[in-house]
Amino acid sequence: PVREHVNLNQLVGETVAFLENEAMHRSITIEKEYDPALPTVSTDPSQMQQVFLNLIDNAIDAVGEDGVITVRTSVYGDGKFARVEVVDTGPGIPQHVLDKVFDPFFTTKSVGEGTGLGLAISFGIVENMGGHLLVDSEVGKGTTFSVLLPLG
Ligand code: ADP
Ligand code: MG
Repeated sequence: PVREHVNLNQLVGETVAFLENEAMHRSITIEKEYDPALPTVSTDPSQMQQVFLNLIDNAIDAVGEDGVITVRTSVYGDGKFARVEVVDTGPGIPQHVLDKVFDPFFTTKSVGEGTGLGLAISFGIVENMGGHLLVDSEVGKGTTFSVLLPLG
């Protein structure tokens, strides 16, 4: 696999910039909280970009009009991981759905709007990089997807 020294703040920033127009049209705010001291990670930038695109795209779908999405980077786990969190103020995910979100072809979206592949592919990419893709959700409050990538 491709491994480069990647500045995640920059990569995440590019992904946010790419989706910001769409978010603005739906009156969605994207808050950016990037840790300036985040070390580079050894990873494949184009694959990771696909992961962040999937996560932010899902968050945009989830929050709807006037929602807020926070994209945050930080060092996590005693310096073992770089963490990218995508936090949304959407409806949250009930447990029976949460159990299936990483399954290939699982979607709650209408035909033509969702393939159900985004999270399955993202999960595979992140695990392949030696990292973890985690979800934490509370119905009525929102959802956080966290990408953890190992620091050297
Ligand atoms: P798709 O977006 O094509 O439906 P994904 O694999 O990206 O496929 O997501 C699978 C399902 O997980 C979605 O259909 C939705 O039900 C749920 N989901 C993903 N992200 C969120 C989120 N941020 N808030 C609420 N539900 C979500
Ligand atoms: Mg998706």
